[in-house]
Amino acid sequence: MDCIFCKIANRELGTELVYESDDVVAFPDIHPQAPVHILIIPKKHLANIGEIGPGDEGLLDQIGAAVKELAAKYQLDDGYRLVTNCGPAGGQTVPHLHFHLLGGRELSWPPG
Ligand code: AMP
Ligand code: ZN
Repeated sequence: MDCIFCKIANRELGTELVYESDDVVAFPDIHPQAPVHILIIPKKHLANIGEIGPGDEGLLDQIGAAVKELAAKYQLDDGYRLVTNCGPAGGQTVPHLHFHLLGGRELSWPPG
């Protein structure tokens, strides 16, 4: 399958990985929307959060651990946003599950 985030997780593109655990990696977004904009993804190809299922036990725990460690690493002490877009109407453009970790500026709500 020709999936750019699978290639990043497999270290095929030379993208800097800023975090790695057994089943998760994280890397900087190529078009950052905030001073800190990291994408956290499962190594396994899942199209979106709705594809998490049997066999993925512990994955969201690992995502949570990544968020905690990355928030500390990037000193997001004042807060941050974690968001996953799902499907075209949700604004998803890359069909491999990913969580945006955004911080380093005031983030408005609601998003567009
Ligand atoms: P979404 O619109 O939620 O699917 O988010 C996809 C994100 O992936 C966007 O913020 C893009 O800037 C980012 N992106 C696309 N290709 C790459 C890449 N090769 N390396 C890093 N980030 C990427
Ligand atoms: Zn993939």
